[in-house]
Amino acid sequence: MSPNLAEAAPRCHHCGQTQLRPALGYEQAQRVTSDCKPWRAGGVLALCPACGLVQTVVGPRWQAEAEEIYAAYTIYHQSGGREQPIFAGPAGAAQARSEAIIQALVAHTPMPARGRWLDVGCGNGALLRACGQALPGWTLFGSEVNDKYRGVVEALPGVERLLTGPLAGLPTGFDLISLVHVLEHVPGPQALLRDLAGHLNPGGRLLVEVPDCRQNPFILMVADHCSHFSLGMLRRVVAGAGYKLLHATETWVPKEITLVAQLTPGLSAASEGPCLGESDQVLTGWATLQAIVNQVALLAAQPGFGIFGTSIAATWLDAQTGGRAQFFVDEDPHRVGQEHLGRPILAPATVPAEAKVYLALPPALATRVAQRLRAARPSVELVSP
Ligand SMILES: [Zn+2]
Repeated sequence: MSPNLAEAAPRCHHCGQTQLRPALGYEQAQRVTSDCKPWRAGGVLALCPACGLVQTVVGPRWQAEAEEIYAAYTIYHQSGGREQPIFAGPAGAAQARSEAIIQALVAHTPMPARGRWLDVGCGNGALLRACGQALPGWTLFGSEVNDKYRGVVEALPGVERLLTGPLAGLPTGFDLISLVHVLEHVPGPQALLRDLAGHLNPGGRLLVEVPDCRQNPFILMVADHCSHFSLGMLRRVVAGAGYKLLHATETWVPKEITLVAQLTPGLSAASEGPCLGESDQVLTGWATLQAIVNQVALLAAQPGFGIFGTSIAATWLDAQTGGRAQFFVDEDPHRVGQEHLGRPILAPATVPAEAKVYLALPPALATRVAQRLRAARPSVELVSP
C-alpha cells in the first residue's frame, strides 16, 4: 500500500468500506481542476469493491485542495464566463449545454405550467437562464456557497432569489431540484440527495447531470471531483436515496449522464446491485490515459504541435507535455481569438497548413470531430486517442 493511502486511512465516502482498490501510479500524475487549470499531483484514485464507486479518496488533504480550488474558481474563463456549448449530431451544431438539458427534459417529461425550481450549485446562472426561457411560468431559485454571482443570477427572468448558506437553512416546497455538475464534487452524494428530499414537495422531481466517466476517461484527472460515475452507479446512488427513477441516460448530452427521478412518498429505497463491470470500465480509463500520454509525447516533439480543445482534456494533456502545445483549436466562436494557458485559440479553418493536432476528446467523440475537421483542413495531421 502506498504511503498516502496508509496516511489517509481511506474509506469509501459513499458506503464507508475501508478495503479500497487503488489505481497504481495515479498519485504521481499531475491533475486538472474542474475550471480547467493545471493542478499538482497527489490524488488517490480507487474503486470501492463493496458499492462499486470509483472515487478520489476523500480525506483532509482532498478537502483542503478542493477548498483551495474553489477559492480561486473562475467559471468558463476561456469564453469570458459564457457557458460551454455542446456540438451534437453529425453536423456538430452548437448549443448551450443548459439549453440542451432543459430541451430534453421538457421533451421527455410532462412539465406543469407553474412550479418552484431550485438549482443547487447554480454558478453564474446558466441553467436558470435556460429554465426561464423554456418554462416562463416557473419561479426560479439558485443556491451557491457564496454570493459572487448574486447580481447576475437575480437579474435573470423568472429568478426570485439566490440562496446562500447551508442546505438545512434553505426553504422547502420545491417542485424540482436540479444538480448540474454538482454531485461529483460532494462527499457522501446519497446523504445530500436524502437531505434534498426534505426540500421537495411530494411528487417533486430531481434532475442530476454528471460527467460520464465511462465515455470520458479525462474526467478521472479532475482534482476536485470525488465521485467518478457510470450510469449504473448514478442510478444506484439516486434510487438508494428513495427516489423513483424516470430517466437515466447517456444520450441527452454528449459525454454526460442525465438522470430524472421523482420523490414518491412511501417508496422504500430501491437497492440496485453494485455495477462492478461498469466500475471496472471506469477505472480502466486510467490505463487508457497513460497510453494517450505516450502517444501525445511523440507528437509534441514535432514542430507545429497543437491541441484540439480548451477544456479539461486539453488542459491536462498540455500539462503532460510540459506545455508544448503552440496553439489550441476550438469550434466555439466565443473562445476563438482568446488565449488559453497563454497561447492562442484558433478556429479550425485557421490552423497552420502543416500542423499536427491532437484531438483531446473521448475516443468515440474524436472520430466524429476528426471527420468534420478533415473536411475543413485536409492538410493538417489529426491524431485521435
Ligand atoms: Zn463504497
